[in-house]
Amino acid sequence: KIPRGGTSSVSAASGTRRLPVGVRKPSLRVVVTGGAGFVGSHLVDKLLARGDSVIVVDNFFTGRKDNVAHHLGNPRFELIRHDVVEPILLEVDQIYHVACPASPVHYKFNPIKTIKTNVMGTLNMLGLAKRVGAQFLLTSTSEVYGDPLEHPQKESYWGHVNPIGVRSCYDEGKRTAETLTMDYHRGAGVEVRIARIFNTYGPRMCLDDGRVVSNFVAQALRKQPMTVYGDGKQTRSFQYVSDLVDGLVTLMESNHIGPFNLGNPGEFTMLELAQVVKETIDPGASVEFKPNTADDPHMRKPDISKAKSLLNWEPKISLKQGLPRMVSDFQKRIMEEK
Ligand code: NAD
Ligand code: UDP
Ligand code: UDP
Repeated sequence: KIPRGGTSSVSAASGTRRLPVGVRKPSLRVVVTGGAGFVGSHLVDKLLARGDSVIVVDNFFTGRKDNVAHHLGNPRFELIRHDVVEPILLEVDQIYHVACPASPVHYKFNPIKTIKTNVMGTLNMLGLAKRVGAQFLLTSTSEVYGDPLEHPQKESYWGHVNPIGVRSCYDEGKRTAETLTMDYHRGAGVEVRIARIFNTYGPRMCLDDGRVVSNFVAQALRKQPMTVYGDGKQTRSFQYVSDLVDGLVTLMESNHIGPFNLGNPGEFTMLELAQVVKETIDPGASVEFKPNTADDPHMRKPDISKAKSLLNWEPKISLKQGLPRMVSDFQKRIMEEK
Protein backbone atom coordinates (compact mmCIF):
# COMPACT_ATOMS: atom_id res chain seq x y z
CA LYS A 1 0.00 0.00 0.00
CA ILE A 2 1.31 3.41 -0.94
CA PRO A 3 1.79 5.84 1.96
CA ARG A 4 -0.37 8.93 1.93
CA GLY A 5 1.09 12.37 1.35
CA GLY A 6 4.05 11.68 -0.93
CA THR A 7 6.20 14.45 -2.32
CA SER A 8 3.25 16.21 -3.89
CA SER A 9 0.29 15.71 -1.65
CA VAL A 10 -2.04 18.55 -2.52
CA SER A 11 -5.24 16.80 -3.50
CA ALA A 12 -7.20 17.46 -6.64
CA ALA A 13 -10.24 18.07 -4.48
CA SER A 14 -8.59 21.13 -2.93
CA GLY A 15 -7.87 22.42 -6.42
CA THR A 16 -4.87 24.43 -5.23
CA ARG A 17 -2.51 23.02 -7.87
CA ARG A 18 -4.80 23.89 -10.71
CA LEU A 19 -4.11 26.85 -12.95
CA PRO A 20 -7.01 29.13 -13.87
CA VAL A 21 -9.20 27.82 -16.70
CA GLY A 22 -7.55 28.38 -20.08
CA VAL A 23 -4.06 28.84 -18.60
CA ARG A 24 -1.68 26.02 -19.50
CA LYS A 25 1.80 25.36 -18.16
CA PRO A 26 4.34 25.76 -20.97
CA SER A 27 5.54 22.19 -20.53
CA LEU A 28 3.66 19.38 -18.83
CA ARG A 29 4.78 16.17 -17.15
CA VAL A 30 2.65 13.48 -18.69
CA VAL A 31 2.41 9.77 -18.00
CA VAL A 32 1.18 7.47 -20.75
CA THR A 33 0.36 3.97 -19.49
CA GLY A 34 0.59 1.48 -22.34
CA GLY A 35 2.83 3.98 -24.15
CA ALA A 36 4.91 1.25 -25.80
CA GLY A 37 1.83 -0.10 -27.60
CA PHE A 38 0.24 0.88 -30.88
CA VAL A 39 -1.94 3.88 -29.90
CA GLY A 40 0.18 4.87 -26.89
CA SER A 41 3.41 5.20 -28.88
CA HIS A 42 1.81 7.53 -31.45
CA LEU A 43 0.45 9.62 -28.58
CA VAL A 44 3.93 9.78 -27.03
CA ASP A 45 5.34 11.07 -30.35
CA LYS A 46 2.80 13.90 -30.36
CA LEU A 47 3.30 14.90 -26.71
CA LEU A 48 7.10 14.96 -27.01
CA ALA A 49 6.89 16.92 -30.26
CA ARG A 50 4.93 19.67 -28.54
CA GLY A 51 7.51 19.95 -25.75
CA ASP A 52 6.04 17.90 -22.88
CA SER A 53 8.01 15.51 -20.67
CA VAL A 54 6.67 11.98 -21.02
CA ILE A 55 6.91 8.93 -18.79
CA VAL A 56 5.81 5.67 -20.39
CA VAL A 57 4.63 2.96 -18.00
CA ASP A 58 4.29 -0.40 -19.75
CA ASN A 59 4.62 -4.10 -18.91
CA PHE A 60 5.38 -4.97 -22.58
CA PHE A 61 2.58 -7.57 -22.80
CA THR A 62 1.62 -6.38 -26.28
CA GLY A 63 3.85 -3.30 -26.50
CA ARG A 64 7.38 -3.21 -27.86
CA LYS A 65 10.44 -1.12 -26.98
CA ASP A 66 10.93 -0.66 -30.73
CA ASN A 67 7.81 1.53 -30.80
CA VAL A 68 9.49 4.17 -28.61
CA ALA A 69 13.18 3.38 -29.29
CA HIS A 70 13.54 6.61 -31.29
CA HIS A 71 12.98 8.59 -28.05
CA LEU A 72 15.58 6.80 -25.90
CA GLY A 73 18.23 9.39 -25.04
CA ASN A 74 15.76 12.29 -25.12
CA PRO A 75 16.02 13.88 -21.64
CA ARG A 76 12.26 14.55 -21.69
CA PHE A 77 11.48 10.83 -22.19
CA GLU A 78 11.46 8.04 -19.63
CA LEU A 79 10.46 4.38 -20.04
CA ILE A 80 9.44 2.35 -16.99
CA ARG A 81 8.68 -1.39 -17.06
CA HIS A 82 5.76 -1.60 -14.66
CA ASP A 83 2.43 -3.39 -14.45
CA VAL A 84 -0.43 -0.97 -13.71
CA VAL A 85 -2.12 -3.64 -11.60
CA GLU A 86 0.50 -2.66 -8.97
CA PRO A 87 0.52 0.82 -7.38
CA ILE A 88 3.11 3.36 -8.50
CA LEU A 89 4.28 6.77 -7.24
CA LEU A 90 4.88 9.45 -9.87
CA GLU A 91 4.60 13.24 -9.90
CA VAL A 92 2.78 14.32 -13.06
CA ASP A 93 0.27 16.83 -14.43
CA GLN A 94 -1.62 14.55 -16.81
CA ILE A 95 -2.29 10.81 -17.07
CA TYR A 96 -3.31 9.18 -20.35
CA HIS A 97 -4.42 5.74 -19.16
CA VAL A 98 -4.01 3.65 -22.30
CA ALA A 99 -2.66 0.34 -20.88
CA CYS A 100 -4.81 -2.66 -21.79
CA PRO A 101 -4.54 -5.26 -24.55
CA ALA A 102 -6.97 -4.26 -27.32
CA SER A 103 -6.99 -7.14 -29.78
CA PRO A 104 -9.61 -9.79 -28.90
CA VAL A 105 -6.91 -12.46 -29.32
CA HIS A 106 -4.69 -10.70 -26.76
CA TYR A 107 -7.37 -9.78 -24.24
CA LYS A 108 -8.85 -13.30 -24.28
CA PHE A 109 -5.37 -14.85 -23.80
CA ASN A 110 -5.54 -14.25 -20.02
CA PRO A 111 -9.00 -12.86 -19.25
CA ILE A 112 -8.38 -12.58 -15.50
CA LYS A 113 -5.33 -10.45 -16.17
CA THR A 114 -7.35 -8.32 -18.60
CA ILE A 115 -10.04 -7.55 -16.04
CA LYS A 116 -7.41 -6.86 -13.37
CA THR A 117 -5.71 -4.42 -15.74
CA ASN A 118 -9.00 -2.66 -16.40
CA VAL A 119 -10.20 -2.54 -12.80
CA MET A 120 -7.10 -2.50 -10.55
CA GLY A 121 -4.96 -0.71 -13.14
CA THR A 122 -7.54 2.04 -13.60
CA LEU A 123 -8.07 2.30 -9.81
CA ASN A 124 -4.32 2.78 -9.27
CA MET A 125 -4.06 5.46 -11.95
CA LEU A 126 -7.09 7.27 -10.50
CA GLY A 127 -5.55 7.02 -7.02
CA LEU A 128 -2.39 8.56 -8.46
CA ALA A 129 -4.39 11.33 -10.19
CA LYS A 130 -6.18 12.07 -6.92
CA ARG A 131 -2.95 12.22 -4.88
CA VAL A 132 -1.08 14.58 -7.21
CA GLY A 133 -4.02 16.54 -8.65
CA ALA A 134 -3.38 15.32 -12.21
CA GLN A 135 -5.88 15.30 -15.06
CA PHE A 136 -6.85 11.72 -16.01
CA LEU A 137 -7.98 10.45 -19.42
CA LEU A 138 -9.38 6.92 -19.86
CA THR A 139 -9.13 5.22 -23.24
CA SER A 140 -12.41 3.33 -23.17
CA THR A 141 -13.87 1.54 -26.14
CA SER A 142 -16.83 1.20 -28.48
CA GLU A 143 -17.09 -2.31 -27.00
CA VAL A 144 -18.96 -0.77 -24.06
CA TYR A 145 -21.92 -0.77 -26.50
CA GLY A 146 -21.58 -4.57 -26.89
CA ASP A 147 -23.57 -6.01 -29.80
CA PRO A 148 -25.52 -2.78 -30.22
CA LEU A 149 -29.27 -2.56 -30.75
CA GLU A 150 -28.93 1.12 -31.71
CA HIS A 151 -27.11 2.09 -34.93
CA PRO A 152 -25.04 4.23 -35.24
CA GLN A 153 -24.06 4.40 -31.58
CA LYS A 154 -24.43 7.63 -29.62
CA GLU A 155 -22.77 8.22 -26.25
CA SER A 156 -26.21 8.19 -24.62
CA TYR A 157 -26.72 4.50 -25.57
CA TRP A 158 -26.17 2.22 -22.53
CA GLY A 159 -25.18 -0.79 -24.57
CA HIS A 160 -26.06 -4.45 -25.01
CA VAL A 161 -23.30 -6.42 -23.35
CA ASN A 162 -23.06 -10.06 -22.26
CA PRO A 163 -21.67 -9.91 -18.69
CA ILE A 164 -20.52 -13.56 -18.64
CA GLY A 165 -19.15 -14.06 -22.14
CA VAL A 166 -15.62 -14.49 -23.48
CA ARG A 167 -15.38 -10.78 -24.34
CA SER A 168 -16.65 -9.61 -20.93
CA CYS A 169 -13.18 -9.27 -19.38
CA TYR A 170 -12.65 -6.47 -21.87
CA ASP A 171 -16.04 -4.84 -22.41
CA GLU A 172 -17.33 -5.18 -18.84
CA GLY A 173 -13.79 -4.34 -17.66
CA LYS A 174 -13.90 -1.06 -19.59
CA ARG A 175 -17.44 -0.34 -18.38
CA THR A 176 -16.18 -0.71 -14.79
CA ALA A 177 -13.20 1.50 -15.63
CA GLU A 178 -15.65 4.18 -16.83
CA THR A 179 -17.63 3.79 -13.58
CA LEU A 180 -14.47 4.18 -11.48
CA THR A 181 -13.49 7.24 -13.51
CA MET A 182 -16.84 8.95 -12.91
CA ASP A 183 -16.82 7.99 -9.20
CA TYR A 184 -13.34 9.51 -8.70
CA HIS A 185 -14.60 12.60 -10.48
CA ARG A 186 -17.79 12.94 -8.43
CA GLY A 187 -16.38 11.59 -5.16
CA ALA A 188 -12.80 12.86 -5.13
CA GLY A 189 -12.86 15.83 -7.50
CA VAL A 190 -10.44 14.28 -10.01
CA GLU A 191 -10.52 16.06 -13.37
CA VAL A 192 -11.36 13.24 -15.77
CA ARG A 193 -11.95 12.59 -19.48
CA ILE A 194 -13.43 9.50 -21.15
CA ALA A 195 -12.81 8.60 -24.80
CA ARG A 196 -14.72 5.70 -26.37
CA ILE A 197 -12.42 4.58 -29.16
CA PHE A 198 -13.71 2.79 -32.27
CA ASN A 199 -11.57 0.37 -34.34
CA THR A 200 -8.28 2.10 -35.09
CA TYR A 201 -5.46 0.99 -37.41
CA GLY A 202 -2.06 2.24 -38.51
CA PRO A 203 1.70 1.67 -38.39
CA ARG A 204 3.13 -0.20 -35.35
CA MET A 205 0.16 -2.52 -34.84
CA CYS A 206 1.48 -5.98 -33.90
CA LEU A 207 1.90 -8.02 -37.08
CA ASP A 208 0.02 -11.05 -35.82
CA ASP A 209 -2.29 -9.29 -33.48
CA GLY A 210 -5.50 -10.94 -34.63
CA ARG A 211 -7.35 -7.71 -35.39
CA VAL A 212 -8.92 -7.60 -38.78
CA VAL A 213 -6.97 -4.78 -40.46
CA SER A 214 -3.58 -6.04 -39.27
CA ASN A 215 -4.52 -9.62 -40.21
CA PHE A 216 -5.70 -8.73 -43.74
CA VAL A 217 -2.73 -6.44 -44.46
CA ALA A 218 -0.14 -8.97 -43.22
CA GLN A 219 -1.90 -11.83 -45.04
CA ALA A 220 -2.09 -9.94 -48.34
CA LEU A 221 1.58 -8.93 -48.09
CA ARG A 222 2.61 -12.54 -47.36
CA LYS A 223 0.48 -13.79 -50.28
CA GLN A 224 -1.79 -15.71 -47.92
CA PRO A 225 -5.60 -15.66 -48.19
CA MET A 226 -7.34 -13.03 -46.06
CA THR A 227 -9.31 -14.81 -43.32
CA VAL A 228 -12.91 -13.57 -43.25
CA TYR A 229 -14.74 -14.72 -40.10
CA GLY A 230 -18.41 -15.72 -40.47
CA ASP A 231 -20.17 -14.47 -43.61
CA GLY A 232 -18.10 -11.26 -43.67
CA LYS A 233 -21.24 -9.09 -43.59
CA GLN A 234 -20.60 -7.75 -40.07
CA THR A 235 -19.52 -4.10 -40.10
CA ARG A 236 -16.86 -1.96 -38.43
CA SER A 237 -15.77 1.66 -38.88
CA PHE A 238 -12.02 2.15 -39.21
CA GLN A 239 -10.12 5.17 -37.93
CA TYR A 240 -6.54 6.08 -38.79
CA VAL A 241 -4.34 6.42 -35.70
CA SER A 242 -3.30 10.07 -36.19
CA ASP A 243 -6.97 11.13 -36.15
CA LEU A 244 -7.44 9.27 -32.85
CA VAL A 245 -4.36 10.80 -31.25
CA ASP A 246 -5.51 14.30 -32.27
CA GLY A 247 -8.88 13.53 -30.67
CA LEU A 248 -7.34 12.26 -27.42
CA VAL A 249 -5.17 15.36 -26.98
CA THR A 250 -8.04 17.68 -27.94
CA LEU A 251 -10.27 15.99 -25.36
CA MET A 252 -7.63 16.19 -22.61
CA GLU A 253 -7.14 19.93 -23.29
CA SER A 254 -10.89 20.64 -23.43
CA ASN A 255 -13.19 21.43 -20.54
CA HIS A 256 -15.37 18.39 -21.25
CA ILE A 257 -15.53 15.10 -19.36
CA GLY A 258 -17.24 13.01 -22.01
CA PRO A 259 -17.72 10.24 -22.77
CA PHE A 260 -16.90 11.04 -26.39
CA ASN A 261 -16.97 8.63 -29.30
CA LEU A 262 -13.68 8.92 -31.21
CA GLY A 263 -13.96 7.03 -34.47
CA ASN A 264 -14.37 7.35 -38.21
CA PRO A 265 -18.01 6.96 -39.27
CA GLY A 266 -17.03 5.32 -42.59
CA GLU A 267 -18.63 1.86 -42.19
CA PHE A 268 -17.43 -1.28 -44.03
CA THR A 269 -18.39 -4.95 -44.06
CA MET A 270 -15.39 -7.27 -43.63
CA LEU A 271 -15.80 -8.30 -47.28
CA GLU A 272 -15.64 -4.62 -48.31
CA LEU A 273 -12.53 -4.17 -46.16
CA ALA A 274 -10.94 -7.19 -47.88
CA GLN A 275 -11.70 -5.55 -51.22
CA VAL A 276 -9.99 -2.27 -50.19
CA VAL A 277 -6.94 -4.20 -48.94
CA LYS A 278 -6.88 -6.12 -52.23
CA GLU A 279 -6.98 -2.89 -54.28
CA THR A 280 -4.26 -1.34 -52.09
CA ILE A 281 -1.83 -4.26 -51.87
CA ASP A 282 -2.42 -7.02 -54.39
CA PRO A 283 -5.21 -7.34 -57.00
CA GLY A 284 -4.62 -11.11 -56.88
CA ALA A 285 -5.31 -11.41 -53.13
CA SER A 286 -7.96 -13.98 -52.18
CA VAL A 287 -10.25 -14.53 -49.19
CA GLU A 288 -10.86 -17.63 -47.11
CA PHE A 289 -13.92 -18.02 -44.84
CA LYS A 290 -13.45 -19.15 -41.22
CA PRO A 291 -15.99 -19.63 -38.39
CA ASN A 292 -16.71 -16.46 -36.45
CA THR A 293 -15.89 -16.02 -32.76
CA ALA A 294 -18.48 -15.95 -29.94
CA ASP A 295 -20.43 -12.75 -29.20
CA ASP A 296 -18.99 -10.92 -32.21
CA PRO A 297 -20.84 -7.59 -32.59
CA HIS A 298 -22.82 -7.54 -35.86
CA MET A 299 -22.33 -3.85 -36.62
CA ARG A 300 -20.51 -0.85 -35.28
CA LYS A 301 -20.43 2.78 -36.37
CA PRO A 302 -19.89 5.86 -34.24
CA ASP A 303 -22.18 8.86 -34.12
CA ILE A 304 -19.55 11.56 -33.64
CA SER A 305 -21.82 14.62 -33.54
CA LYS A 306 -20.98 15.23 -29.85
CA ALA A 307 -17.20 15.36 -30.50
CA LYS A 308 -17.78 17.49 -33.60
CA SER A 309 -19.85 20.09 -31.81
CA LEU A 310 -18.11 20.24 -28.40
CA LEU A 311 -14.49 19.43 -29.33
CA ASN A 312 -14.53 20.65 -32.92
CA TRP A 313 -12.89 17.31 -33.78
CA GLU A 314 -13.54 14.95 -36.66
CA PRO A 315 -11.36 12.40 -38.45
CA LYS A 316 -9.60 13.57 -41.63
CA ILE A 317 -8.16 10.37 -43.09
CA SER A 318 -10.31 7.87 -45.00
CA LEU A 319 -9.59 4.13 -45.10
CA LYS A 320 -8.26 4.44 -48.66
CA GLN A 321 -5.86 7.20 -47.59
CA GLY A 322 -4.78 5.56 -44.33
CA LEU A 323 -4.18 1.98 -45.46
CA PRO A 324 -1.13 2.71 -47.68
CA ARG A 325 0.59 4.43 -44.72
CA MET A 326 0.18 1.27 -42.67
CA VAL A 327 1.18 -1.00 -45.55
CA SER A 328 4.65 0.53 -45.91
CA ASP A 329 5.36 -0.03 -42.20
CA PHE A 330 4.10 -3.65 -42.36
CA GLN A 331 6.06 -4.31 -45.55
CA LYS A 332 9.29 -3.17 -43.89
CA ARG A 333 8.71 -5.29 -40.77
CA ILE A 334 7.72 -8.39 -42.74
CA MET A 335 10.92 -8.03 -44.83
CA GLU A 336 12.96 -7.78 -41.62
CA GLU A 337 11.43 -11.08 -40.43
CA LYS A 338 12.90 -12.90 -43.43
P1 NAD B 1 -1.91 -2.39 -27.69
O1 NAD B 1 -2.11 -3.79 -27.25
O2 NAD B 1 -1.04 -2.13 -28.89
O3 NAD B 1 -1.34 -1.50 -26.51
C1 NAD B 1 -1.63 -1.72 -25.16
C2 NAD B 1 -0.38 -1.41 -24.35
O4 NAD B 1 -0.66 -1.58 -22.96
C3 NAD B 1 0.79 -2.33 -24.68
O5 NAD B 1 1.98 -1.59 -24.78
C4 NAD B 1 0.83 -3.28 -23.48
O6 NAD B 1 2.10 -3.84 -23.27
C5 NAD B 1 0.36 -2.37 -22.37
N1 NAD B 1 -0.24 -3.08 -21.22
C6 NAD B 1 -1.20 -4.03 -21.25
N2 NAD B 1 -1.49 -4.43 -20.00
C7 NAD B 1 -0.70 -3.71 -19.16
C8 NAD B 1 -0.53 -3.68 -17.76
N3 NAD B 1 -1.23 -4.48 -16.94
N4 NAD B 1 0.40 -2.83 -17.23
C9 NAD B 1 1.13 -2.02 -18.05
N5 NAD B 1 1.01 -2.02 -19.38
C10 NAD B 1 0.10 -2.85 -19.94
O7 NAD B 1 -3.37 -1.78 -27.93
P2 NAD B 1 -3.80 -0.40 -28.58
O8 NAD B 1 -4.52 -0.69 -29.83
O9 NAD B 1 -2.68 0.54 -28.60
O10 NAD B 1 -4.90 0.08 -27.54
C11 NAD B 1 -4.59 1.06 -26.58
C12 NAD B 1 -5.82 1.41 -25.76
O11 NAD B 1 -6.86 1.89 -26.60
C13 NAD B 1 -6.39 0.23 -24.97
O12 NAD B 1 -6.79 0.70 -23.69
C14 NAD B 1 -7.59 -0.17 -25.77
O13 NAD B 1 -8.58 -0.74 -24.96
C15 NAD B 1 -8.03 1.15 -26.37
N6 NAD B 1 -8.76 0.94 -27.63
C16 NAD B 1 -8.07 0.66 -28.78
C17 NAD B 1 -8.78 0.43 -29.94
C18 NAD B 1 -8.08 0.12 -31.24
O14 NAD B 1 -8.75 -0.16 -32.22
N7 NAD B 1 -6.77 0.20 -31.32
C19 NAD B 1 -10.18 0.48 -29.95
C20 NAD B 1 -10.83 0.74 -28.75
C21 NAD B 1 -10.11 0.98 -27.60
N1 UDP C 1 -2.21 4.67 -5.80
C1 UDP C 1 -1.09 4.63 -6.62
N2 UDP C 1 -0.28 5.73 -6.67
C2 UDP C 1 -0.53 6.86 -5.99
C3 UDP C 1 -1.68 6.91 -5.17
C4 UDP C 1 -2.51 5.79 -5.10
O1 UDP C 1 -0.82 3.64 -7.28
O2 UDP C 1 0.24 7.81 -6.11
C5 UDP C 1 -3.08 3.48 -5.70
C6 UDP C 1 -3.29 3.04 -4.26
O3 UDP C 1 -2.29 2.12 -3.89
C7 UDP C 1 -4.66 2.41 -4.29
C8 UDP C 1 -5.36 3.04 -5.47
O4 UDP C 1 -4.36 3.83 -6.15
O5 UDP C 1 -4.54 1.02 -4.56
C9 UDP C 1 -6.51 3.94 -5.07
O6 UDP C 1 -6.00 4.95 -4.25
P1 UDP C 1 -6.94 5.78 -3.28
O7 UDP C 1 -6.06 6.71 -2.51
O8 UDP C 1 -8.05 6.38 -4.04
O9 UDP C 1 -7.59 4.67 -2.38
P2 UDP C 1 -7.12 3.92 -1.07
O10 UDP C 1 -5.60 3.88 -1.05
O11 UDP C 1 -7.67 4.73 0.04
O12 UDP C 1 -7.72 2.57 -1.22
N1 UDP D 1 -12.28 -10.57 -38.37
C1 UDP D 1 -12.15 -11.23 -39.60
N2 UDP D 1 -10.94 -11.78 -39.91
C2 UDP D 1 -9.85 -11.68 -39.10
C3 UDP D 1 -9.98 -10.99 -37.87
C4 UDP D 1 -11.21 -10.46 -37.54
O1 UDP D 1 -13.10 -11.33 -40.38
O2 UDP D 1 -8.80 -12.20 -39.49
C5 UDP D 1 -13.57 -9.95 -38.04
C6 UDP D 1 -14.09 -10.23 -36.65
O3 UDP D 1 -14.88 -11.40 -36.63
C7 UDP D 1 -14.92 -8.98 -36.37
C8 UDP D 1 -14.22 -7.88 -37.16
O4 UDP D 1 -13.38 -8.54 -38.08
O5 UDP D 1 -16.22 -9.13 -36.89
C9 UDP D 1 -13.39 -6.95 -36.30
O6 UDP D 1 -12.55 -7.73 -35.48
P1 UDP D 1 -11.34 -7.14 -34.66
O7 UDP D 1 -10.74 -8.27 -33.90
O8 UDP D 1 -10.44 -6.35 -35.54
O9 UDP D 1 -11.97 -6.06 -33.68
P2 UDP D 1 -13.30 -5.99 -32.77
O10 UDP D 1 -14.07 -4.88 -33.38
O11 UDP D 1 -14.04 -7.28 -32.86
O12 UDP D 1 -12.79 -5.71 -31.44
